[in-house]
Amino acid sequence: MTSLHSASAPRDFASRHIGPSPEEIAAMLKTVGADSLDALMAETLPADIRTPGPLTSMGAACSEVEALERLRALAARNTVFTSLIGQGYYGTHTPLVILRNILENPAWYTAYTPYQPEISQGRLEALLNYQTMICELTGLDIANASLLDEGTAAAEAMAVAERVSKSKSKTFFVDAECHPQTIAVVKMRAEPLGWNVVVGDPETELRADAVFGAVLQYPGTHGAVRDLRAPIAALKAAGAISVVAADPLALCLLTPPGKLGADIAIGSTQRFGVPMGYGGPHAAYMAVRDAIKRNIPGRLIGVSIDARGKPAYRLTLQTREQHIRREKATSNICTAQVLLAVMASMYAVYHGPAGLRAIAADVHQRTRVLAAGLAQLGFTPRDGRFFDTVTVDVGAQRDAIVAHAVAEKINFRLVGDGALGISLDETTTPAVVEAVWRAFGGQLAYADVQPAADALPQELLRATPCLKHPIFQEHHSETELLRYLRKLADRDLALDRAMIPLGSCTMKLNATAEMIPVTWPEFGNLHPFCPPEQAEGYRALFDDLQRWLVEITGYDAVSLQPNSGAQGEYAGLLAIRGYHAARGEGHRNICLIPSSAHGTNPASAQMVGMDVVVVDCDKDGNVDVDDLRAKAEKHGANLAALMVTYPSTHGVFEERIREICDITHRYGGQVYMDGANMNAQVGLSRPGEFGADVSHLNLHKTFCIPHGGGGPGMGPIGVKAHLAPFLPGHPALDGGTAPVGPVSAAPFGSASILPISYAYILMMGGDGLKRATEVAILSANYIAERLQPHFPVLYRNHNGRVAHECIVDPRPLKDGAGVTVDDIAKRLIDYGFHAPTMSFPVPGTLMIEPTESEALVELDRFCEAMIAIRREIAEVEAGRFAVEHSPLRHAPHTVHDLADAEWNRPYSREEAVFPAGIRREDKYWCPVNRVDNVYGDRNLMCLCPSPEEYRDSAA
Ligand SMILES: *Cc1c(COP(=O)(O)O)cnc(C)c1O
Repeated sequence: MTSLHSASAPRDFASRHIGPSPEEIAAMLKTVGADSLDALMAETLPADIRTPGPLTSMGAACSEVEALERLRALAARNTVFTSLIGQGYYGTHTPLVILRNILENPAWYTAYTPYQPEISQGRLEALLNYQTMICELTGLDIANASLLDEGTAAAEAMAVAERVSKSKSKTFFVDAECHPQTIAVVKMRAEPLGWNVVVGDPETELRADAVFGAVLQYPGTHGAVRDLRAPIAALKAAGAISVVAADPLALCLLTPPGKLGADIAIGSTQRFGVPMGYGGPHAAYMAVRDAIKRNIPGRLIGVSIDARGKPAYRLTLQTREQHIRREKATSNICTAQVLLAVMASMYAVYHGPAGLRAIAADVHQRTRVLAAGLAQLGFTPRDGRFFDTVTVDVGAQRDAIVAHAVAEKINFRLVGDGALGISLDETTTPAVVEAVWRAFGGQLAYADVQPAADALPQELLRATPCLKHPIFQEHHSETELLRYLRKLADRDLALDRAMIPLGSCTMKLNATAEMIPVTWPEFGNLHPFCPPEQAEGYRALFDDLQRWLVEITGYDAVSLQPNSGAQGEYAGLLAIRGYHAARGEGHRNICLIPSSAHGTNPASAQMVGMDVVVVDCDKDGNVDVDDLRAKAEKHGANLAALMVTYPSTHGVFEERIREICDITHRYGGQVYMDGANMNAQVGLSRPGEFGADVSHLNLHKTFCIPHGGGGPGMGPIGVKAHLAPFLPGHPALDGGTAPVGPVSAAPFGSASILPISYAYILMMGGDGLKRATEVAILSANYIAERLQPHFPVLYRNHNGRVAHECIVDPRPLKDGAGVTVDDIAKRLIDYGFHAPTMSFPVPGTLMIEPTESEALVELDRFCEAMIAIRREIAEVEAGRFAVEHSPLRHAPHTVHDLADAEWNRPYSREEAVFPAGIRREDKYWCPVNRVDNVYGDRNLMCLCPSPEEYRDSAA
């Protein structure tokens, strides 16, 4: 055993991150019948994939203090200028009550995606507020919550348009006034699907009858506020779909896209209180007309009813459309930006419609003053119709002006052909405006300059209040808002209350030390397109992280651009596609995917234009190697890739993984290894060494970025050297010359959450990381061992071992007692637990992943809850009560049940709410009874309830 846990050593970080103590580990080893962790690993992983040496690149483990010092030093190498670059990213004030009570509050940031609605009512309400806010701002009927960034939201909208448009055209029109990164992301997304993208001026270059849709920017990237009614009407007349990319702050003053006739609106809610973060994370939005609602990608919150008929929120419709439609999905979006959507919605709750309007009006007023002053100095803005952005032609004086701006610590946007762009925001003070004038060579006093005449076109002024729903009126005192945030958080079960044993999703500790740097201004307040010399700290952090991830994975290069796992899959498949094409084998378009794959795999494959061929699994849950060989051979000439998850989604290290990779290579295919299960490999084996060519890593699983209730995440990809030239490029880095274009709007994805993974790796050190993996595997085997007598464990390897997760199979119980997997999941809530992953990858089963972070008491508490539930099932079997009248079917139980005057159930109230003697003091009270799924889908309702209060009472 390493010295990591020796009794005399001080409590280092790793021994706090890892739940079980050395003594507990010894006891657990005994339970599973292994002599040591080493012996258990030898029985679990195939010998031919084991990495011999330790991880060394990250050095010895740092203490929390040392790690934060290292991060402080990196932060100090970033220079925070006032960025007036705009282009989709703006300064904003995060209301401090939101900063501390959401962004820095584990009750919000450690929550899981709300698939179990009963324990997610708080965040579901916050997200419903978000959807309501977006619908009101955009004037459209239904909004999702949420998308990854504005660029990908535009690309998603294009895919929706292609699906629902009446036009047979394969051409999509993109307004030249869209942000450059949006144009680049849309072009990249269109190309593999065989769609043409035409970029131009919608007033003069849009041929509505020759396109299936168009995206127009409002206001334009260079600032102009144009009336888009004519192009939208032309598109509509031609049966094409119009998408408007709109700035939500501008929409507080402007006629909403829905009123202009648009079918879809998309955009970023970053400037609603979410720091720029050098590119992310922030929530993008999409809102659509009612007729398109069944095609909206991503997650949609709806209102349903619970078992008592009371309103309750839930994820509705195509909760994750790729899981249902798989390779027929238009989108692969899974992890999105929930935490940031919650923040943006609360920004609107905090300010209310009058406050938002005042912020927008202020920003606009300052911009008018700015424009007037610039005109006095001889730099009249190009366009007189603007909201917050002006573009000025400066010709040969540009370098001098920029040099002066640098001295004032201000960044402008460099626009081609000798122009500068200046975007103001809620943080811009008169002093900043004066500094801008100084950069342009003038000593003007803000108070002396009369604002430019009306810059917002009269016919585009918003006629109605921007937010009418009462929720945006009720919490304007900080006391009220604080209590509202607390009330919502208390409704939910997150990692700060109990283990979340989610197979495939690795819900582990998100240590406080890891979270601290995220809110430092040196990481938060950098604009993604600021001059690189201002982001030296970030670049150094990226370099280290890439180096460490290279060592951990055995790959040669890492891209940090994808901002979710699914985006990583997409980027990895684009790399494979680029590689084949560069070798003159662009015809290779078959992607083999085992039947057990995560839904994002086939969805990503179709997004890069590949055809999915499903490979069978055998009865042990492994890839059926004979079937793989047969299909690889059959499609040999066209084989592009195999997508395989390792260890498998069945929770087992397949013995024949090398052979599986070899077969794929033999027929000219590349191996995409889905790295969501990397928590079972770090320090023990390296995908890049046993045959895989590319993988994504879910930093929000294995590397401690918290789930945030469904995002943010980061999905960097590692590749072998031959694929490195085909990693995603970005116009801001390479001017658009890279062989593969961008997959995200920002060059480094959600850069500002990378310090979390950075701190984790530093504080664990190579030994700690390896130890974490070993304990994760031990914990899963421990649970498998303890539950086996009660619920059969479905898959094990030939030594009887599981990897870092295990699938238990209650299906026989359904046949016997009629108890469903849902009943078990909901009954677990009464015991104070979040359910394991349900029905993935095997319908009707539960997949349990404890992670290394859970202490033995918590593992035992969970096992005992499962065993107690099994006893309750036995009571159904024994005829004590019918399943319909059992505590299983009525679960979860609430205070409403307790308070009912009558109690006519065949079990006691005590058994209902305090099963198996759970501690009364610590009871988690679920706010609603079981939520009715069918009702919610039949009666789709995706806005905050109480529409009767929607009268024009608001400001
Ligand atoms: C989580 C997961 C993904 C998708 O990752 P996101 O970050 O949610 O997009 C892909 N594959 C597997 C096996 C996963 O568990």
